[in-house]
Amino acid sequence: MEAKTKDLWVYVETKEDGSAKSVGLELLGPGRDLADKQGGKLVAVVIGSGVEQAVSDASAHGADQVIVVDAPEFKEYTTDAYTAAMYYLIDKYGPTTLLIGATPDGRDMGPRLSCRLKTGLTADCTGLDIDPESGNVAWTRPAFGGNLMATILCPDHRPQIGTVRPGVFKKSAPGNAKAEVVREEFHVAPEQIRTELLEVIREAAGELVDLEGADIIVSGGRGVGGPEGFAPVKALADVLGATVGASRAAVDSGWISHAYQVGQTGKTVAPKLYIACGISGAIQHLAGMSGSDCIVAINKDPDAPIFDVADYGIVGNLFEVLPALTEEIKKL
Ligand code: FAD
Repeated sequence: MEAKTKDLWVYVETKEDGSAKSVGLELLGPGRDLADKQGGKLVAVVIGSGVEQAVSDASAHGADQVIVVDAPEFKEYTTDAYTAAMYYLIDKYGPTTLLIGATPDGRDMGPRLSCRLKTGLTADCTGLDIDPESGNVAWTRPAFGGNLMATILCPDHRPQIGTVRPGVFKKSAPGNAKAEVVREEFHVAPEQIRTELLEVIREAAGELVDLEGADIIVSGGRGVGGPEGFAPVKALADVLGATVGASRAAVDSGWISHAYQVGQTGKTVAPKLYIACGISGAIQHLAGMSGSDCIVAINKDPDAPIFDVADYGIVGNLFEVLPALTEEIKKL
């Protein structure tokens, strides 16, 4: 498909209450930069039912224009209805680039859409820029098990589409809403929607871990030695008002659930403070946390690679360092 404009689109996914999910608002930040470099508008696309709050959210986070499809058949995400709506909009307006959050729904819609549009999709990106030579978006993502970062261009097809991991970019503070809102009347007949939502089974409350939204994370790795080794990690997290995280080694050992895993096959986080306890700093772990503002590493091995990315390092036994830190912080 030919691009009709130089506009950059961000799909702003919605929550059950009709507000915007964080990842769509996060993407409006790099979206602004790419749109300016491409010489087009920054457009947020909102699809759902009763999604006025998401329209306001997208506007307040910097979109020049919000295109909204609001109809009952979009109350729940379905591949058929959402892909049809997005395809209709892209066919009508012809953006040059589309960014989608790599959420479960985004990861479902992106490939279906790119196949229908006969264009490329770069999945699970962790970096975005414009290639200075060709003017295409330079999509960066981990490749070969996270052992290298690949930069991918989509030179021949439009729109260029990529899914981007939640938590990679920081959401800007909301400002004055200034976007033009375009309301599209688009409907999908019930017989065209081949799936039906029968039931929603919620994760147990204890497993709802908001690592992506946390300002401070204290993570434990294989160095904690067992499930009970997370006690001093949790104690420090409690005094700091932090969320607990973990490396895959700790998760795979069954010491803590996967909901806490940070890294390439876990969550991508960018807190103000990340404290890594007994974590060696494998590239797949770094892929999920190296965007943190300040990294503190506690490890008994002075040569552990985590110290290469740490702003502050403590060489020592975490079972001595963590209780001492916790006691000192309690005194503040
Ligand atoms: P280790 O590498 O074993 O390190 C333990 C560290 O603890 C050591 O540095 C040791 O010196 C230190 N230590 C031990 N005892 C103490 C003590 N008492 N006090 C202080 N320090 C101590 N990993 C992830 O974390 N997240 C991912 O999402 C992820 N995805 C992956 C995807 C793929 C495709 C692959 C191949 C791997 C992935 N991994 C991931 C695994 C990754 O390669 C590492 O194996 C893992 O991160 C190691 O976890 P760790 O640092 O806790 O353990």
